[in-house]
Amino acid sequence: MNFIDLKKQYQRIKNDIDNSVFEVLDNANFIQGDQVKKLEKKLSEYTGNNCVTCANGTDALYVALRSLDIKEGDDVIVPSFTWVSTAEVVKLVNANPVFADIEENSFNVSVKSIEQVYTPNTKAIIPVSMFGKACNLEEINKYAKAKNVTLIEDAAQSFGAKSNGSLSCSVADISTTSFFPAKPLGCYGDGGAIFVRNEELFEKISAITKHGQKGRYNYVDIGVNSRLDTIQAAILLEKIKVYEDEIIKRNIVADKYNELLSSTSYLNIPESTDPNNRSVWAQYTLKLSKEIAPFREQIMGQLKRLNIPTALYYPAPIHQQKPYLSNAYLPNTESISQRVLSLPMHPYLSVQEIEEISEKLLSVCETFIS
Ligand SMILES: *Cc1c(COP(=O)(O)O)cnc(C)c1O
Repeated sequence: MNFIDLKKQYQRIKNDIDNSVFEVLDNANFIQGDQVKKLEKKLSEYTGNNCVTCANGTDALYVALRSLDIKEGDDVIVPSFTWVSTAEVVKLVNANPVFADIEENSFNVSVKSIEQVYTPNTKAIIPVSMFGKACNLEEINKYAKAKNVTLIEDAAQSFGAKSNGSLSCSVADISTTSFFPAKPLGCYGDGGAIFVRNEELFEKISAITKHGQKGRYNYVDIGVNSRLDTIQAAILLEKIKVYEDEIIKRNIVADKYNELLSSTSYLNIPESTDPNNRSVWAQYTLKLSKEIAPFREQIMGQLKRLNIPTALYYPAPIHQQKPYLSNAYLPNTESISQRVLSLPMHPYLSVQEIEEISEKLLSVCETFIS
């Protein structure tokens, strides 16, 4: 069994993907080819925001901070319970990551936790829409507007998700996503995109991703080389056609897990979602009870021997890592990172596989109940 099954998806749309890739090879327009423009147009129509594609989701965040001239002395509020990129990019512009705690049930930061760490030096807030579930965009956006700070949604895991009916990547001043293969909408290598409402900022961001060039040899900014390959754009144009169906399938998988795993006291299932607050289920992550959490490694080991792969997102909070050490008080982050466990999640998991995973998980956990 696979934790994420990229091969099954490829088999489903193999002909279309192969044809699209061969078309790029035939035309040899490998950099900034028509497919890149076409994809940017599609993503822009989907989110209602301007879109610039780039080389990966980390660059997308970095370029966003660069476009805002965030620098030394500035504070940027980020979660500690996240993939490292969210905090890494703040350090890369020599600003100061200020860590906010997450909510117990959504795994996301909230206005309440952001408020607790806000400082007058705060220039931006980067909430992460964790595991495919959009953070409360409306509320956080209102808060950011009131404080006059820029809101950047790190939507690397949540493209297509909704919060109060609004799509991820449609609300914040800037939103960023990743097309890393294992993300819900992934390509076959690295890729990313930046979404921005303000036209001027859009021009600036677009230029920064292309060496700060605006027109050939006319440098208006110090930029980077961060472009999405034409081949990856061609692959994404095919994958996006089945993406809505895949989101529905992911929700069916999550609902089935929730149904099978809801009746125990030692597993905390993730919040279920409704159409206006739909998750794209980048991960299906549950929390072990305090009683069995100390046995997490053993539980994972036993499941592995039973051919059930599991994973830890994220066992080590960023604020406890050497380059990011901070004395931030983040009780939920610290407790939840010790209790999380992610189960196989992809659109092509069969009911039979979900039943097998759930049965084996329950029986392994039961051996640790005193
Ligand atoms: C994957 C991810 C990123 C970075 O995306 P890459 O394309 O791997 O650079 C940033 N933030 C979060 C929350 C992610 O999950």
